[in-house]
Order: sequence, then C-alpha cells, then structure tokens
Amino acid sequence: MRILLMGPPGAGKGTQATIVSERLGVPHVSTGDIFRANVASGTPLGLEAKKYMDGGDFVPDSVTNAMVQDRLAQPDAVTGFLLDGFPRTVSQVEELDSILEALGSKLDRVVELTVDIDEVVGRLVRRAQEQGRSDDTEEVIRHRQDLYAEQTAPLVRIYAERGLLVQVDGMGDVDDVTARVLSALEA
Ligand code: AMP
Repeated sequence: MRILLMGPPGAGKGTQATIVSERLGVPHVSTGDIFRANVASGTPLGLEAKKYMDGGDFVPDSVTNAMVQDRLAQPDAVTGFLLDGFPRTVSQVEELDSILEALGSKLDRVVELTVDIDEVVGRLVRRAQEQGRSDDTEEVIRHRQDLYAEQTAPLVRIYAERGLLVQVDGMGDVDDVTARVLSALEA
C-alpha cells in the first residue's frame, strides 16, 4: 500500500505514521525525519535544510524533491510506503506524481488527520516552553500553521477530486486515532 498521511503541524502525524507504518509493514518515509537526521549528522544537506527549518519555512524544492525521489526508489519502498510531510505544495504534488510515474506506481490512499487548530497551537506552545525550546517561539509555530493553511491545505481538494482522500478525526487518544486511521485504510 502506498499511503500519504496529511495534517497540520502538531496533529500527531509523526506518531500515527510510525505506528501505522509498522502495523502495515511498510516504511515510514518522513521528509522532516530525514532532514533532522541530516542536521544531526551535519551533512551538507542538513546544513542547507537547517537554514529554513529553524524559521519554520519550507526547504527549497531543489533539495527536497531529489531527496524524496532517492528515498522512494530504494528497494524497501518499492512495494509500499507511508509518506509523511511530502508533498506540502501543489508543485510538490506534481513532483510526486512524476516520481511515482517513473517508478510505475501511484498513491492508493491519502489520509488527512483533522484537528482543532487552536487547541493544537496551544499544546505546541506549551510543549516548547516546557522543553525550553526558546527557538520554537509562538511566532514560528504560528508561521508553520499559516504555511500549512496556505500551501498544504489546498492539496486536500486535489486528492479528494482524485478519489483518494479519507478524512480522519485526529483528536483524542493516540490508540483511538490509530484505530480510526486503520479502519479508514481498510474501507
Ligand atoms: P515535519 O517534521 O514534517 O514537520 O518537518 C519539519 C521541517 O522540515 C518543516 O518545518 C520544513 O522546514 C522541513 N520540511 C519537511 N518536509 C518538507 C517538504 N515537503 N518541503 C519543504 N520543507 C519540508
């Protein structure tokens, strides 16, 4: 199964993607995780990405697209994957289409986690304060949400028109959300 998981920052997307990909036996491909791993090990890609990530901005497509293309072509992702964090813009949708076309595959399902934005932002701001992450200011957190609303939310309509979209209530217990995601994928 080739799945895309969408949802605003703080919706619990990473947590759900980890659990669901394990249940389904497909690799979890998270652009954010790949960027963070590169930042941690100080690769040139990480140094470039960090300039954008710190301010909550998107890493340029020239960097991101090549990285996704490379990851999805690896043997473990050929028969299935759970993609998280890409695409984030309409132009990345087109990029993903051509990456998959070149691999002779396509998406099977797009899951959108729906959440209450004000509650999520409040939680993110509190968490950043508790963890002493002074760089993750409310301003940066709101900027990420604004980018999602402006650039990424329109993708929901594109995938709905393709008949791929399922919307899942992302609020509540982690286990409950997982159960909802899995049953949406079985439907
Ligand atoms: P995430 O863990 O998905 O929230 O991603 C963390 C950060 O990585 C984002 O705030 C962006 O700076 C960067 N990033 C992740 N995925 C993408 C993408 N598809 N396009 C551009 N930047 C991305």
